[in-house]
Amino acid sequence: MDSFEWVDATSVEHAVALLGSVSGPGGPIVAKAGGIDLVDLMKEGVVRPARVVNLRSIEGLDRIAFDEGRGLSIDALVTLAQIESSLEIQRRYRALAEAARHAATPQVRNAATIGGNLLQRPRCWYFRNELFHAAREEAGREQSQYGAIFDNAKTNMMHASTPATALLAYDASVHVVGKAGRSRTIALGDFLLPPDFDRNRDTTLGRDEVLTHISVPPLAASTRAAYHKQTERDSYDWPICDVAVVLTLADRKVAAARIVAGSVAPVPRRMTASEDILRGREIDEGVAAEAARVAVRGATPTEQNSYKVPILETVIRRTISAAMS
Ligand SMILES: Cc1cc2nc3c(=O)[nH]c(=O)nc-3n(C[C@H](O)[C@H](O)[C@H](O)COP(=O)(O)OP(=O)(O)OC[C@H]3O[C@@H](n4cnc5c(N)ncnc54)[C@H](O)[C@@H]3O)c2cc1C
Repeated sequence: MDSFEWVDATSVEHAVALLGSVSGPGGPIVAKAGGIDLVDLMKEGVVRPARVVNLRSIEGLDRIAFDEGRGLSIDALVTLAQIESSLEIQRRYRALAEAARHAATPQVRNAATIGGNLLQRPRCWYFRNELFHAAREEAGREQSQYGAIFDNAKTNMMHASTPATALLAYDASVHVVGKAGRSRTIALGDFLLPPDFDRNRDTTLGRDEVLTHISVPPLAASTRAAYHKQTERDSYDWPICDVAVVLTLADRKVAAARIVAGSVAPVPRRMTASEDILRGREIDEGVAAEAARVAVRGATPTEQNSYKVPILETVIRRTISAAMS
C-alpha cells in the first residue's frame, strides 16, 4: 500500500472542507468511516489516496433516534452491530434489524458503518483487482455466476449493500452535506446509481459531500415486514439474493406493499409486479406464490446464473409469508 496522509475530521464541516481541498499530485482525498471497504481497495491498489479523512473522529454522528411523527433517523457512523441490537429497530423496523444481523461477520459489523455500507464499491472480483480495474464494464460482463439477472445488458455487477435492500423497502432517504453547509435529501432509490452509469461512483454523492444520516418514515401500526438473505452456505457469505417485504394492512387486506430484491440487478430492485398482485388482497400461500411467480418474469439470466431465478422466486414467496407470520 502506498503511503498517505491521515487527517482526523473534527466535524462534518471540517470533513467537507478537507474532502473539497485540491488533491495534490499524490492522488485523491478520500473519506474513511469503518474502513472495511476502503482499506480493502487500498490494499488492492484500486484506490490510492494522497490523504485519508477519518470521519470516525467526528463526535455525535453515531446515534439512532426514533420519533412517532418523524420516524427513524440513523446517523452515518452508526455501526451495523448497533442497528442489529437496537430494540427500537428490532421492534419497529424488523426487516432492517434482520438485514444488519445477516450482513458480514460480527467483527465486520462492529466496525462497519451504515454510511460506509451504502457507499461501498461493488464486490465484482475483477473490479476489485488492480490488474482488471481499468476494464470495469468488461469485468462486469465477464463475472456472471453471482451476477445480475435483471437489467444486465451492460453489466452483471451489482451494488453490494444488503441493508440497502431493507432500507429501500422502508422507503428510506439519505441526507448529505456539502460545501457551505449545503444539504440534500435524496430518496435511496435515486441515490444508488447502476455501476454502468459512471465507472467511478455508485451513488450520487459528490466528491466533497459527507453522508450524515439516513431517515426512514414512520410506519402504520398494521405494518408487517420480513427480510431474508439467501446464501450458498450458512456461515457468513454474500447473498445469492436477498429480499425485504414491507406490507401495510387494512382489514387484513394489503393496502400498500413494497418488495425489494437485492443482488439480482445492478441496484436493489422494487418488484412492482409482485406488489400489484398483493394490493387489495388477503395473503395466503397461493397469493404469495402468485406474487413470487410474476416477480421473476422478464429475468434475463446468463447460462451461469440461471439457477438464481427459481431461488429468487422461492425467497420472495417465503419472505411474503414470513411477513404475515
Ligand atoms: C467478510 C466480509 C463480508 C461482508 N458481507 C457483507 C454483507 O453480507 N452485506 C453487506 O452489505 N456488506 C458486507 N460486507 C461489506 C461491509 O459491510 C462494508 O465494507 C462496510 O459496511 C463498509 O462500511 P465502512 O464503515 O467500513 O466503510 P468505509 O470502508 O470506511 O467506506 C466505504 C466508502 O464510503 C465512503 N464513506 C464512508 N462513510 C462516508 C460518509 N459518511 N460520507 C461520505 N463518504 C463516506 C468512503 O470514502 C469509502 O469510499 C462484507 C465485508 C467483509 C469483509
